Order: sequence, then structure tokens, then C-alpha cells
Amino acid sequence: MFDVYLQELLAWNKKFNLTAITKSEEIKIKHFEDSLALRQALRLTKQSVIDIGTGAGFPGIPLKIVCPEIKLTLLEATKKKTEFLKHIVSTLNLKGVDIVWGRAEDLAKDKRESFDLAVARAVANLNILSELCLPFVKVGGQFIAYKEDKVEAEVEVAANTIKTLGGELQEIKKVILPGSDIVRSLIIIKKVSPTPAKYPRRAGVANKNAL
Ligand code: SAH
Repeated sequence: MFDVYLQELLAWNKKFNLTAITKSEEIKIKHFEDSLALRQALRLTKQSVIDIGTGAGFPGIPLKIVCPEIKLTLLEATKKKTEFLKHIVSTLNLKGVDIVWGRAEDLAKDKRESFDLAVARAVANLNILSELCLPFVKVGGQFIAYKEDKVEAEVEVAANTIKTLGGELQEIKKVILPGSDIVRSLIIIKKVSPTPAKYPRRAGVANKNAL
């Protein structure tokens, strides 16, 4: 399944810009292994998972391939990327995957507090990202942000925002990607109380005026 994903990604990348990484070996580590790093922090079983700003399906699709029982929602604001997502989900015959074309700030109205887990990689800094992701998480669930090795300053800046939105920093888990010396930080945030109704603010506001 990963081979097919790789081939389709390369083929579509000739027409649309889906990923800046175009060497097969690099895709395997920086997209596939990296997406799977979450399993070193958390056991995935039957959770409902939303991947916010999934792009060409990262980290959501690799996680679904190895943990087929999760219920996965892939949210992506760019239409052409959702077309690739539909193509790859049907080609790989993945079941239980919803693909949503839209912005997190808009979808959060309908899907508030309805997921066990929200994940995001390379979408925004943690301060902004928390407002896009935490509203989707049920109380008792988690939000996990994929970040670079050195992330402590970014976490400190976001500390108040996380608290305001009903989150609590649980752990910064460092993971070395197999077959490389790349260190990844997974910021694990637990949802401890409901997000106040005024968040997220309307589309674009978090980016311009972070909490
Ligand atoms: N997660 C993928 C893609 C990262 S690029 C990866 O790691 O490879 C960031 C993606 O987030 C882009 O495809 C962009 O369209 C999407 N995005 C940015 N802001 C968004 C928002 N508010 N709601 C939904 N998608 C968003």
C-alpha cells in the first residue's frame, strides 16, 4: 500500500504541487515514517481521528494504513489536494475515511468536540494551531502536533492559548525516525475542559491575530 501511495504521489506531483519532497527514499522517511512516529507516543485502536490540514494525506493516511480500525477525517482547505485524497483513498480501498474540503475554523461549528484525537503536521505554529485543532477534541481526548526537534520556545509561547482553549500540555515526546537521525517532537496536549464557544474565531483570524 505504501508503494502504491508513493507512486501515485509522484505521478500527481508532476501535475500539481503536492509535496516538495520528491525523492522516493526521502518520501519514505520524511512522509511515511514521520507520519507513523505517533505510534511511539500512543496506541491507536478504534479512535476517531481528525487530521487538520492534511495536504497529501500526512500524517492521516499512513496511520490509517497501519491502523485500519481508526475512523479518520481528513480536512484540507485546498480543493486539488482533496481530489488527490479521494483518488488515493479509493485506490488503496481504505474504509472509514471522510474527506472534507474546507477550513478548520468552519468545520469546527459542526464537528465540535467530536474526535478522540486531532493531529496536525506543518500547518501553523502551535499558538495558531491550537485554536484550529483543540475545538474538535472531546474532553478527555488529545491533540498531537508534529513539530521539529527544538520546540520548547514555541510551546512556551502557546501555553496560555492552550489553557484558554481547554487544553493541558501532557508531554513533549521526542522520537527518532527509523532509518535516519531525524528527531521529531510530538506535542501531546490533553483536552481537560470544553473549548469556550467563541473559539475558533472566524477563518483567518487566528493566523492574523493569534491568541
Ligand atoms: N499536513 C501535511 C500538509 C502540510 S501543508 C504535511 O505535513 O505534509 C499545510 C496544509 O494545511 C496545506 O495543504 C493547507 O491547505 C492546509 N491548511 C492551512 N490552513 C488550514 C485551515 N485553516 N483549515 C484546513 N486546512 C488548512
